Amino acid sequence: MWMARALVVGTIASCALVADASAAATKTTTSSKKKTASKKSAKKTATRTTSKKTKSKKRRTRARRKVATAKSHKVLVPSTPSVTTSSHHGDGRVRYGRDNMPPGFAWPPTKQMLAGIKACEATLSAAELPFEPAPPLGLLADPIYVPSMEIAGIAYTPAYGKTKPALDCQLARVLVAIGPQLYALGVRGVHYGSIYRNTNVRVHGQTKNILSRHALGLAMDIKAFVDQNGRILDVELEYLKGDPLLHAIEDTINKSTDFRIVLTPGNDPLSHYNHFHIEASVDYTGF
Ligand SMILES: [Zn+2]
Repeated sequence: MWMARALVVGTIASCALVADASAAATKTTTSSKKKTASKKSAKKTATRTTSKKTKSKKRRTRARRKVATAKSHKVLVPSTPSVTTSSHHGDGRVRYGRDNMPPGFAWPPTKQMLAGIKACEATLSAAELPFEPAPPLGLLADPIYVPSMEIAGIAYTPAYGKTKPALDCQLARVLVAIGPQLYALGVRGVHYGSIYRNTNVRVHGQTKNILSRHALGLAMDIKAFVDQNGRILDVELEYLKGDPLLHAIEDTINKSTDFRIVLTPGNDPLSHYNHFHIEASVDYTGF
């Protein structure tokens, strides 16, 4: 649809340019006295046309550059930690800079990040959550598998397909941390959409030029929750009707400084109308 509209606009613009050129040509043949003036006018028109062409060429180049940036992510991942663009709020929440990366995040992982990875794995071991290393994947600082995908008494099952998902240790860590609270609310199951996805942030129907936490294995899209009675609460069908459990889950996650604000059909009806997007809040500067 967007392409079709762009084509129509492009066609209209081209037609206008042709009309200008033919009007200029008519003027030059009417009188010899007017020739000089017409020449000047034609020159001006030509200059304007060239300048328009240059501008549109520049626009096209910029657009191409944007696409290349979004695809390669090259300019978006700092090779040195982005501590200068991130800091903390008074309540311990991480405040993100313009690049939206976790504080201290760099690629390849720094010594400080490796220390963070070690600490994360120690937390999983202390919680007696069995996990194993997963092959390198995207920008996951510590890709792991949780073979059981049962965390704190909650069964995480894929909503689509049966692929064993790799996730970053930090996402597993925050799911361990929030688990008892979700369990106390009555949550027994989570049907998730995707965890790792090499993608940019998409909110309010627009794709931003910043990396999504999915690209770091720190985010999970949730299609539905299952309660202690086996009731499946589909986010798309139940959230806007005001289902109390879904809203309690949202409030609980939002109160935790381990997570960033949950995206829901309530705060992003365009891009999150059918799922909750939850993501771990990670700070690598503390190690
Ligand atoms: Zn998401």
